[in-house]
Amino acid sequence: MNEIRYVRAATPAQAVALASAEPTTAYVAGGTELTNLMRDGVHVPGLVVDVNRVAERGIEWQPGRVRIGALARMAEVARDAEMRHRLPVVPAALLASASGQVRNMASIGGNLLQRTRCWYYRDTALPCNARVPGSGCPALDGENRWHAILGGSESCIRVHPSDLAVALTALDATVLTQGPGGARRLPIETLHRLPGDAPHRETVLEHGELVVAVEVPATAMAAHSRYRKVRDRASFEFALVSVAVALELRGRTVRDVRIALGGVAPRPWRAREAEDVLRGERLTDAAVAAAGAAAVRGAVPREHNAFKLDLVSRTLTGVLDELGGGR
Ligand code: SF4
Repeated sequence: MNEIRYVRAATPAQAVALASAEPTTAYVAGGTELTNLMRDGVHVPGLVVDVNRVAERGIEWQPGRVRIGALARMAEVARDAEMRHRLPVVPAALLASASGQVRNMASIGGNLLQRTRCWYYRDTALPCNARVPGSGCPALDGENRWHAILGGSESCIRVHPSDLAVALTALDATVLTQGPGGARRLPIETLHRLPGDAPHRETVLEHGELVVAVEVPATAMAAHSRYRKVRDRASFEFALVSVAVALELRGRTVRDVRIALGGVAPRPWRAREAEDVLRGERLTDAAVAAAGAAAVRGAVPREHNAFKLDLVSRTLTGVLDELGGGR
């Protein structure tokens, strides 16, 4: 039996010092992800540091932005009235995530740092480069219906599971951390790594680095944003494909747009080529179709997930239609 020590930190600095000093540690807030990983034997830390008394929990509206504490629960953020009005893509993504019970417990920081749901990763009887470096990736030629078509490598084709991270990527959010080297501000697009030849490292966080808050620009475009998630069943399921869009129109012409995709890559995937196709164009069938094609340019589908190419295009079309009021 593994011995697991538990410490309730009193300050952020103490939490970081405790976690940094141990070789295998985990922070716990809501515990919804960590308990799964520990129960399945995927990640069993020697030390669990409880941060419920030290990190931020509030939702603070400031001029032009909102600061969301890492300890804010998913349900709290989803029901925040100003959030629903000014950043609707955020509550939409949260409400498409998990069950109501999990949303009541799970923290914003923990949601962003979820590990991949790849079924090979979660089954310790099977090889997986992300869990045991060098052991192989059975998903490449195996059951890869859920896996990545963008950003993968010959070492790993996992997808990142957080809906919220996709929404925040479309809004150019910033993740604030406290680590052994001090405080950092990370554009959310840089938080998660592509697997390359080191798929066991899913984020750029240093050992012991703690997410303390997320800052989100509250622009006019962010108020005109949507999230759509396509999944195998209506509740408590991860995305096959998801799309977050923030759109600024002048008449029928796209003044500016941000597009992020979920369920298709090892991190939330910013579809900049699709944005470039749309910017300055009228929102016509042809422009929307061209954006859909651009969003998956360079994709590498596998045996069971080529359907995602068309699904991305159709889902993006649906969201643009909703935001643009039809064509
Ligand atoms: Fe492991 Fe990544 Fe392969 Fe899944 S896709 S089995 S997480 S290496």
